[in-house]
Amino acid sequence: MAKGVGAVGAVRHRATTMHVPVFLGEGQLDYRDRPIPEISAADDVLVQIEACGICGTDLNILAVPAAHKATPGIIIGHEGVGIVAELGPAVKGLQVGDRVVIANRLTCGKCAYCRRGLDNQCTDYQTIGTTIDGAFAPYLRAPARALWRIDPAVPRDDAALFEPLACAVGAVKRAPFQVGDNVAIIGAGPMGLLFALLYRALGAGKVILLDVAPYRLHFAEEIGMDAAIDVTRVDAPAEVKQLTGLGADIVVDAVGNQIDQAIRLARRGGQVILFGLRAHDNPPVNQYTITRYDLTLHGAFVGLHPFAQTIQLLESRRVQPSILVTHRLPLAELARGVELMRTQQAMKVLIEM
Ligand SMILES: [Zn+2]
Ligand SMILES: [Zn+2]
Repeated sequence: MAKGVGAVGAVRHRATTMHVPVFLGEGQLDYRDRPIPEISAADDVLVQIEACGICGTDLNILAVPAAHKATPGIIIGHEGVGIVAELGPAVKGLQVGDRVVIANRLTCGKCAYCRRGLDNQCTDYQTIGTTIDGAFAPYLRAPARALWRIDPAVPRDDAALFEPLACAVGAVKRAPFQVGDNVAIIGAGPMGLLFALLYRALGAGKVILLDVAPYRLHFAEEIGMDAAIDVTRVDAPAEVKQLTGLGADIVVDAVGNQIDQAIRLARRGGQVILFGLRAHDNPPVNQYTITRYDLTLHGAFVGLHPFAQTIQLLESRRVQPSILVTHRLPLAELARGVELMRTQQAMKVLIEM
């Protein structure tokens, strides 16, 4: 399993360059030879990447015009899983040969929000795969605090979904959940389906997906969700009410501009988790519905300290997110993988190194 990782002494014999896709700005991705990174800080870790998932964020970075900022000249990719190849002298708790996954936001630990424990609101962070080199590469150098060791018994492709699953875990933590709660999720892409898998594992009643794309709705049904509603064809609030009796106890907007639909799907006294991010959309919302029916809305951004629990969840095998992986492509075909996801011919694409 830990192929390519031998004795520490063997590290010197490997190649010194790697051929990697580099983000050049405005939707441009081109392959360049880059030196394999070396340990430079005492807490650096060199990871031999096994696989890295393509995220919606990567699609947004590569869109024209870009829908998510990234620094030109960097290697993108943040949903990586790999094997520790080399350690800086100050690293504790990791060993060469360990399998690790990446928590890609490097918060500063010093700003007013970090000091309040709200480090998902850090105002001075770096992000692996957005502002600094990421994991669509054979090797990644990262500070030890960005890496989480995971039991090698967890299949590689489940581990590869650690980061998006952690975002869902962080969001689910925000809304008090009761066993048996009916959950409606708007958006049956990879994130929406991760929420669905998570709520199923938590003991939800019905888990209902809503989308406009037939491929996604079909996928949700195929993996056993209770209902997949095509919002272009039916009155979604009426349908959810019929399926649940009162409306959903919990609604997740995994899209980012569906607040008005979300509040109509919730039962009186229900909760809405606003997870998707669309910076430039300003959807109108019927505020009366929120007040009159005692709804609770939770904004949920990437999650606060979800990582340890997400590792435990993956190691328990009770959520096996690799069910969402439809394509595995070599690094040379990253652009094709992005296109497959953009055109919704793929659910989740993994790039294998
Ligand atoms: Zn991601
Ligand atoms: Zn900070």
